[in-house]
Amino acid sequence: MSTRNRQAESKVFHRSVNSQQLAVASGRGCTLVLEDGREVLDGAAGAAVACLGHGNRNVQQAILSQMDKISYIHAQVYTSGPIEELAALLVESTGNLMSRVVFTSSGSESMEVAMKLARQYHLEKDPPQPQRDLFLSRQQSYHGATLGTLALSGHVNRRARYEPLMLSNMRKTAACNPYRGQGVDESDRAYVDRLASYLEEDIKACGPDRICAFVAETICGASLGCVPPVAGYLQAVRAICDKYDILLILDEIMCGVGRTGTMHAWEQEGVVPDIQAVAKGLGGGYVPIGAVLLNHKVFDTMAAGSGVLSHGQTYQSHLLACAAALEVQRCLQKDKLVDRCRDLGNYLLSQLKAQLGEMPFVGDIRGRGLFVGVEFVVDKKSKEPFPSAKNVAGQVHAAALRHGLATYPGTGTADGVRGDHILLAPPFIITTDDIDSLVLRLGKAITDVTKEFHL
Ligand code: PMP
Repeated sequence: MSTRNRQAESKVFHRSVNSQQLAVASGRGCTLVLEDGREVLDGAAGAAVACLGHGNRNVQQAILSQMDKISYIHAQVYTSGPIEELAALLVESTGNLMSRVVFTSSGSESMEVAMKLARQYHLEKDPPQPQRDLFLSRQQSYHGATLGTLALSGHVNRRARYEPLMLSNMRKTAACNPYRGQGVDESDRAYVDRLASYLEEDIKACGPDRICAFVAETICGASLGCVPPVAGYLQAVRAICDKYDILLILDEIMCGVGRTGTMHAWEQEGVVPDIQAVAKGLGGGYVPIGAVLLNHKVFDTMAAGSGVLSHGQTYQSHLLACAAALEVQRCLQKDKLVDRCRDLGNYLLSQLKAQLGEMPFVGDIRGRGLFVGVEFVVDKKSKEPFPSAKNVAGQVHAAALRHGLATYPGTGTADGVRGDHILLAPPFIITTDDIDSLVLRLGKAITDVTKEFHL
């Protein structure tokens, strides 16, 4: 498929995964329709966003009818039905383990709010702990594009230009990445114990009473390429956080809201975070919206303290966005789409492994629910990553587009710790036929790149 290059004419300045940008005219279900009439299977739901697919009539209707009433209120002064209902739905979805919700307009904002909430919690504790001014997160992590969340992230490439601007009170510990980090003969238990001991050493090096929160993605999306934690890892992390009175913030911006087959990815790990951030699947791409959930311990402490959230933004709890997201969530519930996501995710993973697992430079295929990563390596045995300059993931993405499939590429980092990957995260409404077609097209794309690069 030849792509139409809009870059030269476009007056929009933005980051593009490759120089050729496809112009999309419309979308229906799992299909993107390009301006030249060609169709692309949306195998990534944009960036793991469009959980309901495109063009959902119920959401369209909900948006129109809310606009007909009122689109915006200043939510620090007023509230309205859809805001309250969406917050109640989210709290209920946690089995009431979480207590309150803060609505934002994006994932990065949600993580900024999560950090500020953690700090506020320690300031309002009895006795207050103002010395807790450090955040501990993981290497090769991604938590957002703002300067604060980028400082929290360990993503080498995305940080590089801004290193001199990064907040100084961020510390990093090892990521849980079994494909690259776990020894060949090392059991899951032994790997978890090793990571837990690194974490405890790093906490001690910071001074345990200096740390505000430990931050991690429950399942690593863009940073590592859909890597679920080894069984027991997050439970070990939770226990260490509790031991040192450190809050646990889970970033479920990409992996949350049903994407891994349960409403919250932490449900499958046997842990409950103190603070949780979600975004993409919340509004399903129909509106920009994110949310932060806080548990009873955090909320009750602040309720007994200042009683107010020390953070305010103009578009917080945006009414139109909340009304749209409420309908997205109702559709997920009504059509049992999270269960469907789990079942079809198992099918996708098994088909990918069966059809592509033996291909020469496919190093690893992993994931959970409709959240699957394929990692590319020079050599399957040594797991040597491709040099970043080769942009192998970007090439696979471009080749897949030529075969009518959209993926989400993650380019390699210079740190040699992870390889290139592409991420597959189709809408939850995808069918098994579409999954078969996705796997076929991806296989063709990988074959093309193998030939082009003489790999
Ligand atoms: N955290 C994670 C885990 C993400 O995947 C992303 C976006 N890819 C963000 C934070 C930032 O979200 P946003 O792009 O909506 O600001």
